[in-house]
Amino acid sequence: MIELKNISKIYKTNNGEIAAVKDVNLTIEKGEIFGVIGYSGAGKSSLIRLLNGLEKPSTGSVSVNGQEISSISGKQLRNARQKISMIFQHFNLLWSRTVEENIAFPLEIAGVPKQNRDTRVKELIELVGLKGREKSYPSQLSGGQKQRVGIARALANNPEVLLCDEATSALDPETTDQILELLLDINKRFGLTIVLITHEMHVIRKICHRVAVMEAGQVVEEGKVLQVFQNP
Ligand code: ADP
Ligand code: ADP
Repeated sequence: MIELKNISKIYKTNNGEIAAVKDVNLTIEKGEIFGVIGYSGAGKSSLIRLLNGLEKPSTGSVSVNGQEISSISGKQLRNARQKISMIFQHFNLLWSRTVEENIAFPLEIAGVPKQNRDTRVKELIELVGLKGREKSYPSQLSGGQKQRVGIARALANNPEVLLCDEATSALDPETTDQILELLLDINKRFGLTIVLITHEMHVIRKICHRVAVMEAGQVVEEGKVLQVFQNP
């Protein structure tokens, strides 16, 4: 379970302060697919960076499965972050490495021995439907295939939470649907908690159980997707 309590994030800039997130309270259940929707500048990215400990909140606390992310650092935070994975709009793959090397990368960092790494990479390649593409480089892949690599890499160390930062925003509608189907499948199979931020209503409607609507740093509405989007 993910709990955000009284979270604010204030950035100091040359022109003063910007409150990117203002007093947000959210509870996301284990195994849930939770969407955060809002226009550009609403505070979605800031929120997701708070969830994986990349940023510290100015006030409030973030806890993930009982561990407070907002107050730890160093090795403790690095360990906690192995359980909180992320995929990105522009995939963030290593361009000089093949598909299998990209997927193996987090396993290498975690110190997994070569033989176990190879077995795990094989499993992941099958899971995301990239069989036959092991030796390809990212530049030889379509956008959807690149995101499949991103997903496989994110799942390598068996995370408890997957954060998706506009993960389908660079993809065409058909590929978007395929990637969302894959995320849904992974959620069902492994009970993985998924938090996704997007500016696209369609993405929320297709796979999210619940949604929070953000505006100018605040959650202005929250609830089951059908209920939130029913009202004009
Ligand atoms: P979204 O992801 O919904 O587009 P962001 O979280 O990126 O929203 O941004 C929310 C607000 O915070 C914006 O006004 C943005 O300019 C500001 N902001 C985001 N990150 C920083 C930063 N590192 N420093 C200063 N201001 C920032
Ligand atoms: P974008 O359109 O935002 O650049 P890409 O998926 O093409 O998205 O790139 C993702 C990231 O990888 C970007 O930060 C980009 O600078 C970097 N990148 C893209 N192509 C290469 C490359 N051939 N070698 C190294 N880095 C690259």
